[in-house]
Parts: sequence; structure tokens; C-alpha cells
Amino acid sequence: MQKRTKIIATLGPSSNDQRTIEKLIEAGANVFRLNFSHGSHDDHRQRAEMVRAAAAAVGKQVALLGDLQGPKIRIAKFAAGPITLEVGDSLILDCDMDQSAGTREAVGVTYPQLASDCKPGQVLLLDDGRLELGIEAIEGSKLYTKAIIGGVLSSNKGINLRDGGLSAPALTDKDYRDMKCAAQIDLDYLAISFPRSADDMDTARAAAEAEGCFAKLVAKVERAEAVANDETLDKIILHSDAVMVARGDLGVEIGDAELIGVQKKMIRRARQLNRIVITATQMMETMIDASLPTRAEVFDVANAVLDGTDAVMLSAETAAGKHPIKVVEAMTRIIRGAEKERASQQSGHRMDRVFDQIGETIAMATMYAANHLSPVKAILSLTESGTTPLLMSRIRSGLPIYGISPNQKALNAMCLYRGVSPMPLATNITNLDDALASSIATLKANGSLKTGDVVLCTHGTVMGKTGGATNSLKVITVKA
Ligand code: PGA
Ligand code: MN
Repeated sequence: MQKRTKIIATLGPSSNDQRTIEKLIEAGANVFRLNFSHGSHDDHRQRAEMVRAAAAAVGKQVALLGDLQGPKIRIAKFAAGPITLEVGDSLILDCDMDQSAGTREAVGVTYPQLASDCKPGQVLLLDDGRLELGIEAIEGSKLYTKAIIGGVLSSNKGINLRDGGLSAPALTDKDYRDMKCAAQIDLDYLAISFPRSADDMDTARAAAEAEGCFAKLVAKVERAEAVANDETLDKIILHSDAVMVARGDLGVEIGDAELIGVQKKMIRRARQLNRIVITATQMMETMIDASLPTRAEVFDVANAVLDGTDAVMLSAETAAGKHPIKVVEAMTRIIRGAEKERASQQSGHRMDRVFDQIGETIAMATMYAANHLSPVKAILSLTESGTTPLLMSRIRSGLPIYGISPNQKALNAMCLYRGVSPMPLATNITNLDDALASSIATLKANGSLKTGDVVLCTHGTVMGKTGGATNSLKVITVKA
């Protein structure tokens, strides 16, 4: 059986040719991430073409996710290379300083409002939290800081403010330009970095659509204010198609102790609110160099799977690491191991819920039937938009959900849904019985179904119409 949890692999220098991408797909990658923080528009266009060619070559469905850089705040450059700060050493961060004139005493920053957004007594975290600088005083454009945790500091390292509170809006001029590129490439998902609220997601959606980009939007939850209270987080989830537990920046802002509960909560709430959730950052970090994961990494991936995440993400591991294929193979192995656990398959079935749509009612009824009628081996959902498989996949189950669609955009979207296998339907098939018969024949031919298996099929009354038209559930026994 196929693994249910999806893998997102970031592309970069280590995965920059079609053959490698084909092997990544065969090893279990479902979605490829183009990181707009690195590389030119031409790089992204070429990578997208390679991904599509690779998917066609191996005959699998994959999706493309673009990730906008957002207002990542960094220190500028040091003129003479990295500096070392001992505990108690002073460093001035100067918003007005030349961007390449940093010294042992002072360095520029990429965010002009840093001095006005901060207060003395607050703590800045540099280089993903490796260094901590306490703010002693602020004068004009200068922040006078003292190292609380020292270390080596090199050019362009990220800056976070502990507990959040920087006023930078979620979209920069570069993000707007990158949205144009996302539209041209026709990306399936677009990740918005550092949104503070649902409003930021609404603004991003309007901006993306104005650029001609209709990708599904992923909110990267990586600012303290996004998780400051349940209402803010719920609204962000509801105004997005998917959310990412962006553990890198989020962990720096809220601290690693808080991150644990936030990951669990985000996964639980996203599923309850019928949205997709991605768990990201440092999942297989040591495999950037090593050829095997640590036990801690094995259990990190496994625990995210047991928590119910739709997807786990690889960043530098596949973009710049030494073993891009081995890392995806290892992740697939861990996912399969975790999915054997009962906790991965047992559902509470939303007994206390009132459904407001017929499509949702059919989806939930199907999952209830599937999980309780033992000869059922698969769920087949004929879908135009992918909505019914999305709703079904919010319920835990060990059974495969085949999302059968003639619509390539829907097939791509479903690549991120846990437990859903997108299956193309030839566009010349327009009648329901033929569609089901041909899908069942395909699944029989590849060994996924056999004579006597029972399958549950959902569909609408008219084929080829979008918009929650699913209103029927049919029980079919696979014939010889
Ligand atoms: P990044 O986002 O890798 O683009 O910074 C993910 C994270 O912060 O965890
Ligand atoms: Mn981040």
C-alpha cells in the first residue's frame, strides 16, 4: 500500500536535474518546493519544467509549491568577514548604516523600522536563535545591544524578536514580483511567510489573484503573534487552504518549550477546520551530511505522522544536502512505520458535529461506513475540485482514498492531502458508470484491488461540474 503522509522536498543545487527529481518522486516525494528566498525566476521556471517532465516520465502525480521570502529580517554584511561576540560584548545594530560596512562594533540591518519597533529590555535572536542580544538602549536608528549568548556572527544572518511584535507587513516588493513568477509557472500552492493574522492572508490572496496567481495559499505560521491566542490562529487557518508549522522561525520567537504544544494544536485544529497542515524544518537535519537519520529525527517525523500531519517537509536536506534521495527514502520508511500504528488509523468520527453541506454529509457518511464495514478496501471519489477527498481525509482511516478527477489542478492539489491518491480520469469518459469501471479496472490491474473487494464510491449527479455537487454514495463489489 502507498504511504498516506505526503513528503514535500525543497529543490536546490543538490536536486537540480530531471533524473534526480525522478528518483525523488520514486522514493516518495509528492510535492516540490521552490524557495523564492534563493535563486532567480529563471531557476524556478526551469525547476518547475523539470518537475513536470519528471512526473510525466515516472507516471506519477506531483504538485509544485512556491515559498515567498516574506519580511525576513537580517543583519547586513560585515566588511571583513565574521565577527565573534563573547557574553557581555557590545554590538550596535544600525538601521541607517551602509549595507556592506559592518565592523566588530556595528552592523546594518535590512529592516529600517527595527529601531522604532523595539524597546530596551527586549531580546533579539540572531542566526536562528544561536546568538541572543539584549537591547540596552535605542537612539535614533541605532540599537545598542549586549550579547547574552555569544558566538560567531557572519553576514546576512536572520534576526527575530523574542515574543514577536515587529510591525513588518507580510508582503514585500520582492514577494509581489515573485507572485508574478508564481502565476507564470502556474504553481499549485503558494506559501506566505510571516503572516500575523487572517487579514495578512486575505491581503496575500487578493494580491496573488491580482497578479494572476490562483494557487492554494499556505500560511507559514512563524511569528509569535500568529499563535498568541486560539482565535487568531483559528482565523489564520480558516483564511488559508493549508498551514505550515514553520518550526524554524516560530521556535526562535516563542521558544522551543512552547513549540511542542503549538505543533500539536495546529495539526489538531487544521484537521478539525477542514484544512491541510504541513510540519516543517529540521526534520532530517543531520542527513544534510549523514547517510542515516538520528533516532531523534526518526521519532520527530514519526510523531508528526502520529499527530496527524498531512505532510512533512524537507528543506536543505534535499536542496543542498549530500543525500537527497536517501533522505526521502528514509522519510518514507519512517512514515510507513508510523502509519502501522493504530493511533494513525482510528477516528473519533465527528459524532458531535452538524454538517452544513450535502457534500460534507456524504463524505463523513462514507468514512463512517468505510471504517466500520470490514470488506471495504478503498474509497473512490469522483471529484472535480478535490473537495470531497479533502473532507474525507480529515477523518483518520487506514483505507486509501482515490481522488479521481479529469481536472489536473485538482489532481495536483490532492498531492498534499494525507491518505488521498490522486488518479487521473480520461477526459473522454463522461458517464459515471464508465468512470467507475475504468478506475476499478486500473486499480485491479496494478494490484490495489482484487475480485470480491468492496469499494465505496462517491459522486455527483452530473459529471464534469464543479462546486460541491457530490450527493451520492454507491457500494460496489469488485467483479472477476
Ligand atoms: P523558512 O521557513 O525555511 O523559509 O525559514 C520555515 C521555518 O521557518 O520553519
Ligand atoms: Mn521561516
